[in-house]
Amino acid sequence: MTTPLSEIELLDRLVGFDTVSSRSNLELIDFVRSYLDGLGVASTLLPDATGQKANLFATIGPADVPGYVLSGHTDVVPVEGQQWSRDPFRMWEKDGRLYGRGTTDMKGFVACMLARVPTMLAAPLAVPLHLALSYDEEVGCLGAYGLIDHMTRSLPKQLAVFVGEPTEMGVIGGHKGSTGLLTTITGKACHSSRPDLGVNAIFHAIDLIGELRGYAEELAAAPEAESPFELPYTTVSVGVIQGGTARNAIPGDVRFQWDIRATKAGMVEKLVERFGTYCDETVLPVMKAGFSDSAIKTEYAYDVPPLVPSEGSLAETLAKRFARTNQVGTVNYGSEAGIFQRAGVPTIICGPGRDREAHIADEWIAVEQMHRCVDFIDGLIGDARRA
Ligand SMILES: [Zn+2]
Repeated sequence: MTTPLSEIELLDRLVGFDTVSSRSNLELIDFVRSYLDGLGVASTLLPDATGQKANLFATIGPADVPGYVLSGHTDVVPVEGQQWSRDPFRMWEKDGRLYGRGTTDMKGFVACMLARVPTMLAAPLAVPLHLALSYDEEVGCLGAYGLIDHMTRSLPKQLAVFVGEPTEMGVIGGHKGSTGLLTTITGKACHSSRPDLGVNAIFHAIDLIGELRGYAEELAAAPEAESPFELPYTTVSVGVIQGGTARNAIPGDVRFQWDIRATKAGMVEKLVERFGTYCDETVLPVMKAGFSDSAIKTEYAYDVPPLVPSEGSLAETLAKRFARTNQVGTVNYGSEAGIFQRAGVPTIICGPGRDREAHIADEWIAVEQMHRCVDFIDGLIGDARRA
């Protein structure tokens, strides 16, 4: 039997695990797993392909009926290059604030949900509450797919998902998608004095990037009426170009990384298809005329779908009730919420802390926010007891 810990004690323990996305999160997951086990809650470990990271999924209440999912990620952003006044992985408290990497984004929420497990167990619950902890959210929401896969395979379709990203306990119903792409152009290298013998991959990359810039301008010129987003259109941007070896050499290879922030489902597929057609029909034939093995390849690095506002959904209704607000907003960052929604479950974002305190040196969360989050979860427990 484990002695139940408070949300602040739990946050202290969770911050102590350095779970920067590039590292393993298994020590944290083991801690949570044995903590839950000590309370009599079994959990399912869902490791990634390397075995170095894992999601954790636990159910409290009857698993055979649809219920509510509380979702949080266990990874945090790096601390390198930031001026921390103390060790980022040892939580400290000052003036009603809890400091440490991940306090706001988003171990605070995870601590709150774990702290209420004894209350969930005592309820007892008529519909289940599921705890879903993921890895690699900060690097493209990679873990969430395994969680959804597990839920789809072994459970009925759930009623609602609550993602506890920092919103100051406001209710967030929408965010744009976030898609990362990589395009690789293969031409033929040779000496710059004989360009007729090669295919200049940089020259062709410029055409491709110009095409993408055209999409960006076209989208910006046609803002969407009544869009919930601050910037009311899908954006396209190229962030990194790499290629070439010397001034006097025709470059054979170029890669560039690009980014789409879509307002709507299906938007990314449409743009990528249009780009593919341009590559295949306009640029590649010219390249192949110079070198038959020329190639253009575009791959997804990650693809987080938008969270599309869904007015009046159960997730939204419950979140408004238990966060005690009538407002539903949108945010600029992407999250796992879009992935859960795409799997067909009403999803909302509501969690403790302010997003402007996330990702910075001396990240902190107010103790008051932790209390408000516990109240929110207690509201949900009350509903799950009655429902
Ligand atoms: Zn986060």
